[in-house]
Parts: sequence; C-alpha cells; structure tokens
Amino acid sequence: MCLLVSKVIIMECVGARNFAAMAVPTRAFWKANLMRTKTAIPSHNRLISLKVRASGARSESCVAVKEDFADEEDFIKAGGSEILFVQMQQNKEMDKQSKLADKLPPISTGENVLDLVVIGCGPAGLALAAESAKLGLNVGLIGPDLPFTNNYGVWEDEFKDLGLERCIEHVWRDTIVYLDDDKPIMIGRAYGRVSRYLLHEELLRRCIESGVMYLNSKVETIVEATDGRNLVVCEHNRVVPCWLATVASGAASGKLLQYEVGGPRVSVQTAYGVEVEVENNPYDPSLMVFMDYRDYAKQEVQSLEAQYPTFLYAMPMSSTRVFFEETCLASKDAMPFDLLKKKLMSRLETMGIRILKVYEEEWSYIPVGGSLPNTEQKNLAFGAAASMVHPATGYSVVRSLSEAPNYASVIANILKKDSSNGLLTSERNNGNISMQAWNTLWPQERKRQRSFFLFGLALILQLDIEGIRTFFHTFFRLPSWYDFIFTIFWMWQGFLGSNLSSADLILFAFYMFVIAPNDMRMSLVRHLISDPTGATMIRTYLTI
Ligand SMILES: Cc1cc2nc3c(=O)[nH]c(=O)nc-3n(C[C@H](O)[C@H](O)[C@H](O)COP(=O)(O)OP(=O)(O)OC[C@H]3O[C@@H](n4cnc5c(N)ncnc54)[C@H](O)[C@@H]3O)c2cc1C
Repeated sequence: MCLLVSKVIIMECVGARNFAAMAVPTRAFWKANLMRTKTAIPSHNRLISLKVRASGARSESCVAVKEDFADEEDFIKAGGSEILFVQMQQNKEMDKQSKLADKLPPISTGENVLDLVVIGCGPAGLALAAESAKLGLNVGLIGPDLPFTNNYGVWEDEFKDLGLERCIEHVWRDTIVYLDDDKPIMIGRAYGRVSRYLLHEELLRRCIESGVMYLNSKVETIVEATDGRNLVVCEHNRVVPCWLATVASGAASGKLLQYEVGGPRVSVQTAYGVEVEVENNPYDPSLMVFMDYRDYAKQEVQSLEAQYPTFLYAMPMSSTRVFFEETCLASKDAMPFDLLKKKLMSRLETMGIRILKVYEEEWSYIPVGGSLPNTEQKNLAFGAAASMVHPATGYSVVRSLSEAPNYASVIANILKKDSSNGLLTSERNNGNISMQAWNTLWPQERKRQRSFFLFGLALILQLDIEGIRTFFHTFFRLPSWYDFIFTIFWMWQGFLGSNLSSADLILFAFYMFVIAPNDMRMSLVRHLISDPTGATMIRTYLTI
C-alpha cells in the first residue's frame, strides 16, 4: 500500500535574483554554493533548510517550496540532500524546445473516458504515449510542460537501431577507458551525444502524428472509481477519467505507485559536469572518454572528496571545447555536488587544463537499484518510475525507447480485449488484467537479470578506488589467451547495454571469476555468501 507518511518541507533561502536563475541560464556560470543550514528528519515531518549563495547575488531572501513525498526512499529518489541542485537541473531553460501545449490538442474535459493516461513527459512518457496512440488508443498525456535538460549519452549503434540517429548531435568513432597509467582500453564502439532539442522534437512529433492529447499539470493521485474507471486527479482538482493509467513520472513516483516492501535500499549515482572552452586539453577529439580513473593527484589526499571513488567522463566536442563530468558511479549516500565540483576543478588544474569559458553546468542525480514496483497493482508504470534504470550504469533511456512499442501493444490488446468482452467495468477491478502488462515489463527473466545487476551494484558500493580499478581491469581487459573467444567482447557490450540473458550473465560472471586476480575472487565469493543481494540473486535465479 502506498503510504503517505512523510511530508517534506523544503525551505530554500535563495538569493532573490537567483531564484529566477534556478532556471539556470545555459550560458551563465554562476557558482551555486550549497550550504546545509539545518537537516532534521522526524518520522512524519521533515524540515530542510537549504541556503544557496550565488555569485552576483546582492541580497538573499527565503522562498518556501512544499513537496510531498511518499516516504524516505521517495525523497532520496527525488534528490534527498541534493534536491535543490536536482531542481536546478530540471528547471533549466532550453529556449529552442517546443512547448507541448502549443503543439498537442488539449485533453477535453467532461464525461469522455480516455483509454489511457500517461503521466509524465520525460522520454519514457512521450515515447509510450505516442506508441499507444499509434495503435488507435485514445491517449492523454499529463505532466509539466518542461524541456529535456539532461545531456544523454548513447552507444551510436543502439540509437541507430531505434531509428533515432538523426537525434545525435555529435559522434565519436571510438570510446576509451583509462584505469591507471597502463595503456588505455579502446572499447571499439562509437558513442554519441543526444541533442536534447532533436530528441524532444522527434518524440513530440510522434505524439502529434498519433493524436495524443495533453494537459499541463501535475498529477496528485489516482483514484479507482467503482465502475472500473480510474480518476486521475491533477492540481487544482482537475480530474481526468480513463480506463488505464500508466505512471512515467520519473524515479520519485512513490505518491502514485506502490513498490515492493523489503527490497534493497536505493543508491545514487551523482555527477557534476561543465561544458567549457579550455586551453591544454589533452584528450583526442575523436575519442569519447567513458571513464578516466587515473590518479591525477599522484598523492594520498586526505580530503573528504578523495574518499569517494570517482572518475572523469569527458566528451571532447573539439580540441578546445569539452564536456567534463566528475562521476561517482554509485554511492549509498549521494556524493554531494559541491564535493564533485571541487574534485573536478582540482583534477583539471592538476592536469594543466585551464578553463577559459563556461557554457553550461550539469547536476546529474540518478537513483539506482531500490525496489521494483509491486506488480499486482492496477496502475501501470514505465521508465524510471518502473525501476527500468540499469542498476549498475544508471542508463534507462534506450531501454524505455526500445520497449515502448511492445509495451504499448500489450496495453492496447488488454484494453481492446476488455472492451470487446465488456469487461471494462467490473472485472478489471481485480487487477489481473494489469498484471499481464506488468509481466511484460518485468517477466521472471528480467527479474533474474536485475538481481544479477543489484549484486554487482552492491559489490561496487563496497570497493575503494583500488578495488574499482581491479574490477574494471577484469571487466574490460581480458588476457590475450581469451581474445579468441570474441564472444567475451560481445558480453561486456551486452552487460553495459543490458541485453544479456540471465544465463549469459552467469557465463559472464564465470569468465570474470576465472580471469580475476585472487583478491578479487575472494571478494566475489565473500560478497556472494555474505551480502543479502547474493541470496536474493540465487533465489531469483531458482524461481521459475
Ligand atoms: C543530468 C542527467 C544526465 C543523464 N544522462 C543519462 C544518459 O546519458 N543515459 C541514460 O540512459 N540516462 C541518463 N540519465 C538518467 C535519465 O535521465 C533518466 O533515467 C531518464 O530521464 C528517465 O526518463 P523517464 O522518462 O523515465 O523520467 P524523467 O525523465 O524523470 O521524466 C519524468 C517526467 O515526469 C514529470 N513528473 C514528475 N512528477 C509528476 C507528476 N506528479 N505528475 C505529472 N508529471 C510528473 C517530470 O516533470 C518529468 O517531466 C541522466 C539523468 C540526469 C539527471
């Protein structure tokens, strides 16, 4: 059951001029300096006072923002202690992107019952709404009319397979990984940076063509009426009736969805990025730097930021314009953005890279792991709301875009079958019908894969920087006597892209175990025996 137990009140003391600047101007580089002044989380009420100092601010004033979260986990998924930065990222202004309300017809109010309401206008919501309407369903899309603000990176072949290559704004012919001072590892796969503008316009175009209707609002709750309809209750008490509701409102969807109880605690991947004009860029503009784990400081730094193992993700757009992102792959408690920024600046300085101009800052906060949605509930989910984020990489966009057509056709079949059987009123109350769709999204095979990734995530969380280097050495750099088994190469590609079957993953783990150094083997065995994710993985693999 979805319990609305904790109310979070966030008091943001924001430089008056800069509250407007929370819609961060893309060309402005203002130093947001977050100071936690008070954090207290009583069981039913949470008061967090956040203070932001922005360079250039002449005065400070307080702006109160109230938000409800379903529980502690939901609050962490929404941004936790870093929530202000998460909101700055979400509220960036992107001038070029169209407003959905200008292009899509409004959802008509009255007695009309929509077949499907999709809640949330991120990549998952837009893709699912378009695919469902294409199949003849009467679809309403509800969510704030916000642009895409995140810089998505994708393997070029995956986006090509989706027919979306024209939405990639920059391609690197190969991708490189530095773990230490040894020879770097070439991944042999082209990587692309998605144009936020082009992807948004393309998904919107699909919605327009298929006849999706739109309401610019936030959904407060979904109520089940006695006649089998769902009433989607939005802000200002606007109610949209529908036969089926699908929640695609991002990771923090606990108010609208129930999640399994007793699952693993959610962890967080945080990354602080800057797109900059620089002098002395050492990176080859034809290669995308997937991970640079080198010890740039060459000394034992006893600082807080040095305690988190982080790597540099770099997209050299040219020899002088680069997007650098200091990334903490996963952490039980999110690595704060101010520490990430400090670490990035110190890294660049040590490498002799001088920043001449800043085009944009990025605050990437991705909840990873955590529980699956309860697959017995009547309302459906998609995208990050449906826990589709890869627990070990933080990626979800390609999976959501590629699964949208199939998921839509299952939803369409369910609704069509229901209406032809006259079941839309009474029998659908029992939730069995929705279970077919849930089983499409999370069949036992997918659950097995996820249990494997959660086991890997828990292992990564325990490793220090040396352990992480050894892990990735084993992961990427296989000894030459294995090279002839070219399938291994295919295997870690599949691992990153989450398209290995559960049996392939066991084979992958077996190879890793065989080639790993003894220390790593011991850690793996210890982890399998002692960590709860090991037992869960074995149980899930044994469940037919
Ligand atoms: C900076 C950054 C970079 C990232 N880079 C990558 C990457 O390279 N590759 C990758 O795969 N993933 C990446 N991620 C993760 C990825 O952004 C998310 O996993 C992805 O956006 C999830 O898509 P989604 O559509 O499920 O949810 P979201 O994109 O979170 O969209 C949810 C939508 O629902 C709306 N909403 C929220 N509450 C409500 C409500 N109550 N009612 C109605 N609407 C609501 C929100 O306004 C939002 O528009 C990145 C994330 C960040 C922050």
